[in-house]
Amino acid sequence: MSLIACLDLEGVLIPEIWINVAERTGIDALLATTRDIPDYDVLMKQRLRICEENGLTISDIQEVIDSLGPLEGAKEFLDWLKSEFQVVILSDTFYEFAHPLMRQLDFPTLFCHKLGIDESGKITDYHLRMPDQKREAVKRFHELQFKVIATGDSYNDTTMLGEADRGILFSPPQNVIDEFPQFPVALDYTALKAAFLAAREALS
Ligand SMILES: [Mg+2]
Repeated sequence: MSLIACLDLEGVLIPEIWINVAERTGIDALLATTRDIPDYDVLMKQRLRICEENGLTISDIQEVIDSLGPLEGAKEFLDWLKSEFQVVILSDTFYEFAHPLMRQLDFPTLFCHKLGIDESGKITDYHLRMPDQKREAVKRFHELQFKVIATGDSYNDTTMLGEADRGILFSPPQNVIDEFPQFPVALDYTALKAAFLAAREALS
C-alpha cells in the first residue's frame, strides 16, 4: 500500500483535552484555547502557570484524561481505517497527555510533542517537535513516495490538509468550513469512511 492516512487526534478520535481538564477540575482559566489566545507559546505558558498555581501535577491531569475515553465510535472507525490504510496520527498534543487514551485505542502510531516534567510531577516546560510538524510529516511521506489522505477538525490541521493529496475536514466548526471551502466535510464516521474511500478512488 502506498497510501498513508494521516489523522488529527483531538476532535477526531478523542475529546479536546484541555477543555475537559478545565471542566473536570473546575479551573475555568484552563478553558482558554488558541481561539482566545492565538499565540500558542503564550497560551501554553499560561496553562503551565495555572497548573502550578493550582498544584495540578501530570498524574492529576492523566487521571482526568484516563476517565475521558475516545469519542463514541472512534475505536471502531480507527480499526476499520487500519484495515484499509497505513495510519499515522499527527497531533499537537503531548505524549504524556495522549498515553492513557492511546491505550484505549490499541496504541496507534502517534507523532506529537512532549512535556518537561520534574521529579515531583510538576509540568515545567513543553517541547514542540518542530514548527508545523503535521505539514512537515506529510512532506516527508511524499519524499518516501507515499500518497497521503489527511483529516482534521480545525485551523491547526489546514496546512496538513493542504499538503496532503486529499484533505478532509471532520466535524469542524462552521468558521473553518467557511474559510476552507476547498476541503470536503464529513460530519460523522460513516461519512468519513466514505470520504476516505472516495479519496483513495480518486488517487488510484
Ligand atoms: Mg483537532
